[in-house]
Amino acid sequence: MTRPLRARIDLAALRHNYSVARQYGGATALWCVVKANGYGHGLFRVAHALSNLADGFALLELESAEALREAGLRQPLLMMEGFYSEDELPRFARHRLTPVLHSLAQVRWLVDSPMLDGLAEALPVYLKLNTGMNRLGLDQADFRQALAWLQASPRVAGITLMTHFADADEPAGITRQMACLADFRDGAAAGLPICLANSAALVRFPGARGGAGDWARPGIMLYGCSPCPAIHSAEALGLRPVMNLESQVLAVRELAPGDTVGYGSTFVASGPMRIGIIAGGYGDGYPRHAPTGTPVMVSGRRVPLVGRVSMDKICVDLSDIPAAQVGSPATLWGVGPAGHLPVEEVAAAAGTISYELLCALAARVAIQVE
Ligand code: PLP
Repeated sequence: MTRPLRARIDLAALRHNYSVARQYGGATALWCVVKANGYGHGLFRVAHALSNLADGFALLELESAEALREAGLRQPLLMMEGFYSEDELPRFARHRLTPVLHSLAQVRWLVDSPMLDGLAEALPVYLKLNTGMNRLGLDQADFRQALAWLQASPRVAGITLMTHFADADEPAGITRQMACLADFRDGAAAGLPICLANSAALVRFPGARGGAGDWARPGIMLYGCSPCPAIHSAEALGLRPVMNLESQVLAVRELAPGDTVGYGSTFVASGPMRIGIIAGGYGDGYPRHAPTGTPVMVSGRRVPLVGRVSMDKICVDLSDIPAAQVGSPATLWGVGPAGHLPVEEVAAAAGTISYELLCALAARVAIQVE
C-alpha cells in the first residue's frame, strides 16, 4: 500500500467556483488568477479546466506563461508584474502577453526599445496605479507621463487602469483607494477601462467590480476559499473546496497521565487518553506552527491536534472517538470521507491564511484529479 496521504483536486468544484465569481462579477470580464502554480493546485490542470470559461488568466511567471502558450492556450494572459528586464520584451510580443506596467522604466522599454522594432501587432497594456497599497504602482506624476508615452505609441493597442486593494475585505479601506483612483481618472485617463477587484472586493464591494469592458482578478475564491472568512464562510458564499488533503490514521496509542507526545515533549497527557498518528506533516505542506488544538477531521468528527507537527506526521486526540482505528479516514483540510474542514480554519488556527497553506502543498504529496 502507498502512503495514505493525497491531495484530491476537484476540478468540478473549480468550475463551480468560477460560476460563483462570474455571478459576482456581473458584466465584468474575469482574469482567473493562476500565479504560484495555480495557488498550489497545478497551473496546467487549473488553466485547462477553466479554458472554456475564463476570459483570461493572470500570473507573473514568464516561463509558466510561455508553457501555457506552448500547451495551446489562446486566452489573454495578464502578466501582473510586467517584464523585469528589457530583453524579455520579444517574449511578451511572441506570446502576446499583456504586461502590467508599474514603473516609468517599463513604459520606456515598451515604447522605445529596439528589441520591439518590427512588432507585428500592437500589445494591450495595463497601467498599475498606486492608490494606497504602496507596493508596485505609479504615483500621479509618473502616471501622467506614462500615459502620454503610451497613448502616443503605435506599439500599444489599448490601456487598462489597474490597482490592487490593500484591505479588500474592509469597506473603509476600499473607499479610500477608490477615492484615490478617481483622482487618476480624469483628463487623458477618463473613460479608460479599469481592473480592480480581487476576490474580496468582488464579494464585498460591488462598486469595485466594474462593468462591461472592465475586468476583475479573482484568485482565492476560485479555489473554494472565502476571501473574508471572518465575515462569510466559503460555504455561505456558495464556494466548494478544490484542494482536499485526505489521509488516514497510521497508528493508535493509549497514553497514561504524564506521557508526552512528539518532538520537544510539548504536549503532556493530563489523564488517560488515546491518540491517533496521522500521515501528513510539514514535509507535505501542513503548517509546522499549527498548535495543539488545531482541528483535524477523523471519521466524521472534529478532533484536536496534539503536540508538535513533525515532517511526516501529526498526532490527534482520539479519546472521544473509540471507533477510530488504524486506517480510519482523516481530512487535514477540504472535504473527504472523514468530513469537511475548511482550510481557512486550519490556517486561522496556525496563524496564517488559506493562500499560504494551498501554495505550500509539497511536491511529494500524491495528487488525485477528478
Ligand atoms: N490581483 C493581484 C495583483 C494579486 O496579487 C492577487 C493575489 O494576490 C489577486 C489579484 C487575486 O487575489 P485573491 O486571491 O485575493 O482573489
